[in-house]
Amino acid sequence: MIPDMEFNFLGGASEVGRLGMLLRGVDATLLFDYGLQPTDPPQYPLDAPPVEALLLTHSHLDHCGMVPVISRRQQTDIIGTPVTFDVARMLLEDSIKVSKNEGFPQPYTMKDIESVGRSAVTIDYGDLLKIGSFEVQVHSAGHIPGSCMFEMNGKRTVLFTGDFHTIDTHLVEGASPVVCDVLIMESTYAGRSHPDRRETESAFLAKIKEVVERGGVALVPCFAVARTQEILMTLADSDFEVWLDGMGREVSQHYLRHTSYVRSRRDLRRALKRTEIVRSPYGREKALGGDVIVTTGGMMDGGPVMFYLDRLKDDTRNGVLLTGYQVEGTNARSLIDQGTVEIKGAKTGVSCEVVYFDFSAHAGHEELVEFVEGCDPSTVILMHGDSRQDLADDLSGLECLLPKEGEWYPI
Ligand SMILES: [Zn+2]
Repeated sequence: MIPDMEFNFLGGASEVGRLGMLLRGVDATLLFDYGLQPTDPPQYPLDAPPVEALLLTHSHLDHCGMVPVISRRQQTDIIGTPVTFDVARMLLEDSIKVSKNEGFPQPYTMKDIESVGRSAVTIDYGDLLKIGSFEVQVHSAGHIPGSCMFEMNGKRTVLFTGDFHTIDTHLVEGASPVVCDVLIMESTYAGRSHPDRRETESAFLAKIKEVVERGGVALVPCFAVARTQEILMTLADSDFEVWLDGMGREVSQHYLRHTSYVRSRRDLRRALKRTEIVRSPYGREKALGGDVIVTTGGMMDGGPVMFYLDRLKDDTRNGVLLTGYQVEGTNARSLIDQGTVEIKGAKTGVSCEVVYFDFSAHAGHEELVEFVEGCDPSTVILMHGDSRQDLADDLSGLECLLPKEGEWYPI
């Protein structure tokens, strides 16, 4: 029997990023995710007390970026899917490099990242775990390969969604609702809807065609994790000469090693096989003669995208096709809002066309409402959103909680 529980957000309740949530039962405390905000400088969640286990939903840095701090301090099981650990390790190592380059203090070392590997307990969808009196069932979250939702069963059933999406994309199948009493749900897109995905894909391909036909190159800045692969799969059936540069190459290799977390191993392989890979400065020059360049970073604040942008921005025949949400204060945001970017410390105008396409991996407002209906809870706790009230307004008849960070709430 599970006793009454209480929860406390260490970060990421009223904002998107640096997520961490404690769930305390009578004999165990669980920590769900422990991430950082990869801003400039990074922002961290509140300190975590000793916990019985850390349940990791997925490998994005705002969910996993502080995990080494936990494994360094205490011998705690860190629970996640194999692909989550592999990709997280790569991102954590990269974040140390970025911190060194930028001169930020780093809360952990390479040795601490190794300690995550030693504490790792790998799980799969459908697994049932016992942690103290918590019985935890693992579900797919449909967000990126290996992403999980966790269901805690007992006197009351609690579902922690992490980031999720309910539509099928090229890369992953959408998540299904899980019937529960208490739903702790992300609300990144509260109050905002996504356009139909198939229409977005058609418009994206049509724009590339237009750019190529007028003699230009389409630059597609992408997050390395999942977005890059989704875009390459979207381009798989086209005739364009597609080049890939940046960390998305390595993530693709991880996904090829863990194809059980990908919707179609065949389609991913096919997409990667027809893509030209940049491996050298010479390759970068060759890529500039192709049709499409898919490259990191998605926010255009560093990575190989800066090289391409510098070379392509002044020719009006070229196009920058943004595929991710533009966080405030980033180059991608400034490009959309003001038509300027910062390259090598200098603010500069961009003459080429700039278009945004919504390839989000998060449920939009309508999907969130539908998901709540499918889970049929008596209580909904909204997290991971800066416009949660917009969603709460649409959930009448349910007890709806918008917790603050650093406070305990009973369930
Ligand atoms: Zn995520």
